[in-house]
Amino acid sequence: MINGVCNFCGQLLLVEADTQKDADWKATNICDCGQSKHQTEINKLEIKLNNLIGKNAESNGIFTEVEKNVYKYIFDAAMLVLNKDIEQAQFKVDGTTVTITAKGDKGASINRTKKTTCKEEF
Ligand SMILES: [Zn+2]
Repeated sequence: MINGVCNFCGQLLLVEADTQKDADWKATNICDCGQSKHQTEINKLEIKLNNLIGKNAESNGIFTEVEKNVYKYIFDAAMLVLNKDIEQAQFKVDGTTVTITAKGDKGASINRTKKTTCKEEF
């Protein structure tokens, strides 16, 4: 166990880590100062968005990565949801629907759905 320093408030926290850098990162993540919590939520949001619409989207074999400018737009909307400025945002992109919804008093959930519809017209 070594002392890590929270990036935001400078509080020292004892964590299990091999390097000082790792210790600081862990301390920042577990620190309960407001800024740290907020940053942790942003980090989590980024990971989730990357899995659903970003560079990891293709790994599940269902979705594709959206255009960079679209990603930024959805990320900004997700931030508004996370900050409770709006309750929900929905995007239709690449034949899929991305919905970001505020969860109770903290956090947000992101869903991406793809409806497979076969339609013939004559
Ligand atoms: Zn802190």
